[in-house]
Amino acid sequence: MELHTITMTRRLAVIGAATVLTAALTACGSSEKTVDQQGTSGDTAGALVGVTMPTRSSERWISDGDNVKAALESLGYQVDLQYAENDIPTQVNQIENQITRGARLLIVASIDGTALTTQLQQAAEQNIPVISYDRLIRNSPNVDYYATFDNFKVGVQQATSLLVGLGMLNADGSVGTATGPFNVELFAGSPDDNNATFFFDGAMSVLQPHIDSGALVVQSGQTDFSTVAILRWDPATAQQRMENVLTRTYQGGVTVDGVLSPYDGLSIGILSALKSSGYGTAGQPYPVVTGQDAELGSVKSILADEQYSTIFKDTRELADKTVEMAHAILSGGEPEVNNTTDYDNGEKVVPSYLLEPVIVDKSNYEVLIDSGYYTAEQLG
Ligand code: BGC
Repeated sequence: MELHTITMTRRLAVIGAATVLTAALTACGSSEKTVDQQGTSGDTAGALVGVTMPTRSSERWISDGDNVKAALESLGYQVDLQYAENDIPTQVNQIENQITRGARLLIVASIDGTALTTQLQQAAEQNIPVISYDRLIRNSPNVDYYATFDNFKVGVQQATSLLVGLGMLNADGSVGTATGPFNVELFAGSPDDNNATFFFDGAMSVLQPHIDSGALVVQSGQTDFSTVAILRWDPATAQQRMENVLTRTYQGGVTVDGVLSPYDGLSIGILSALKSSGYGTAGQPYPVVTGQDAELGSVKSILADEQYSTIFKDTRELADKTVEMAHAILSGGEPEVNNTTDYDNGEKVVPSYLLEPVIVDKSNYEVLIDSGYYTAEQLG
């Protein structure tokens, strides 16, 4: 009861401060937020921070949400953490609710990066800063900062690892002994996720020269992003597409040697289509299948010689970096960024902090244990 009263009072104070600030900004004719204005907007100690994540259907977002919440709470903030199960209207409502409840800052991992323009405009009108989390929110001038991994590099690493698995490259980057031609198929992520294009472009920057030279052959002929993209990163859709490609293209002894998969969830679907088609036996091993996120099941699959590799993005680091940014903004400081050129969201280049992704395959999976991401027991 008492706690509730304190919380309500604090909330009202927060809303009051925001209203005063909005009025002040309107009075001086400024619609632009500056970091300084954000930070001096009253007492932000214990302020409410709204955190929206896309879905619980993938482990990584569960960890992201938990880590961001814990880090914010350790700094004394209140946190409203919401998941939208990949439903865009649900996420829109969640953000609107957070604004109504007096959130002082929003951290958003979007489902459809182009669908939040109106909500971010509402946030801006109330001087609520927005940090885009992992995925860039597009078509809005009201994205203040972006924390993510180097997404182009993720794609480069996925393709590099595919070539290493095929033997065309050695792990140290030197040219391998295998020359092909190898049959490969390509997959990309959700077309409404800005990251998906970065991953695909990064991967194609490595693969295209080998496709042009004939060392890699995409037997299905499906190489453009819109054809190979999988809406909402849905594993079942990837499985279906792989089944279709196998049925239509890989007949009469022609086999797939490699699959560029941008996400562990898709890799699971792809592997299951391959299995139904007779792959995964001593006589017909799985092709080299890549992935991303180092999800537990997929790391186990790598150890069992099914999936070939994944990309480890330490979500603990991303959560910490984002919370550091949030805290800097809310305390009137300026968040650290390391990229001010690459992430144009269609309205502005969003100042970003990019973290480093790491290729993980059977030869170096211990990095997941050494870094404390998983215990040896978890990996069996
Ligand atoms: C993230 C990836 C993830 C994918 C599917 C992307 O935006 O950057 O880490 O695999 O979404 O959830």
